[in-house]
Amino acid sequence: MERPDQSDQENLQLAGCPAGGKPAPTIYDAESVEAVRRRQAVQPHRMKLFRNALFKHAKDWGEALELLPPPARSEMEREVAFETLSLAGRQDSSVDGASKLAFQTQDGCLVESVVLRPRTGRTSLCISSQVGCACYCSFCATGLMGFTRNLAAAEILDQVGQACRLVKAEGRSLRNVVFMGMGEPLLNLDQVSSAVEFLLAPEFFHLSGSRITVSTVGIPEAMVRFARCFPGVQLALSLHSARQPVRERLMPQARRYPLDMLRESLVEAACNGKVMIEYLMLAGVNDSDEDLAALMAYLSGIPVHINIIPFNEFSGCNLRGTPRPARERFALRLKQAGFDTTLRYSLGSDIAAACGQLVRHRKGTGHGAG
Ligand code: SAH
Repeated sequence: MERPDQSDQENLQLAGCPAGGKPAPTIYDAESVEAVRRRQAVQPHRMKLFRNALFKHAKDWGEALELLPPPARSEMEREVAFETLSLAGRQDSSVDGASKLAFQTQDGCLVESVVLRPRTGRTSLCISSQVGCACYCSFCATGLMGFTRNLAAAEILDQVGQACRLVKAEGRSLRNVVFMGMGEPLLNLDQVSSAVEFLLAPEFFHLSGSRITVSTVGIPEAMVRFARCFPGVQLALSLHSARQPVRERLMPQARRYPLDMLRESLVEAACNGKVMIEYLMLAGVNDSDEDLAALMAYLSGIPVHINIIPFNEFSGCNLRGTPRPARERFALRLKQAGFDTTLRYSLGSDIAAACGQLVRHRKGTGHGAG
């Protein structure tokens, strides 16, 4: 598969600590794991059992290591780190089966992931791609914490690895992975691409592309590159308004990437199949008849699936969500006009784990909504 950028070769070192120093290899660093295999002359089929135990059966490190001959086991333990994040906290929703996980990186940053257990039984994981976010959307709590750094691919993947083990202990398995936690995935394209490659790879997690969703604020060039590189992966565009002044008010990135430019990349990305359009409904901002007409005109002729999202309020933000009946009417009118449209009902709002409510600061400085 062609990678988005040749410099990504360097990113094959999927290490746990990206900033400064020599990062320690992790189990997500395929080259380091292979180097141990070669040095210890472990049979490829043994290695396959080891990998399957870790990535497909969500076994613990100890159990997976048992599958290797003793000398290889010791070297693997010495040379390769099993986890790069440590679980720093967990909150379970008392109403809807969501769990918010707070992970600490080796340099003391905190990021969050959310396990969603909807009644359909399809367990999903929402993961972060950056510490904080540089997009500053006015409706998103993560923007309040500013941007600290990109996550390394290993840190993105470790959220998946640890969540897989957590849900396995409950007799579940992860069905979907969505990049809808903290950060803008397409502003960390190299590391996100490495992580997606690992999630898809038959020898690692082997998830189907349709079960991975990458949600973006709308970075046109990166959307096209990502869509070309990962045609089977679900792309989601946070559109939220098809009127330029309204979108600019909500999302500062819209000034840089105006709607007409964004539409061209949307058309190209949609050549692979439907792109999901996320439309957050805010009272008196983007929920009028004029907004609806602009949305229909903008999306006309593009294969999309529109997802109408309720606003999750947080302190310090004076925006208000459109009430549910009005959201339902808006969705119905889109459907009547022939658009594939669904309504999202947020999970995890009682633990501030819903979209746009993830806020974490550096350890020791307290935290916001979380
Ligand atoms: N940066 C990416 C992914 C993170 S946000 C993006 O913008 O798509 C994931 C989704 O949650 C986006 O659609 C975002 O617009 C939405 N979101 C952010 N804050 C929200 C809030 N307070 N209530 C509801 N949805 C929100």
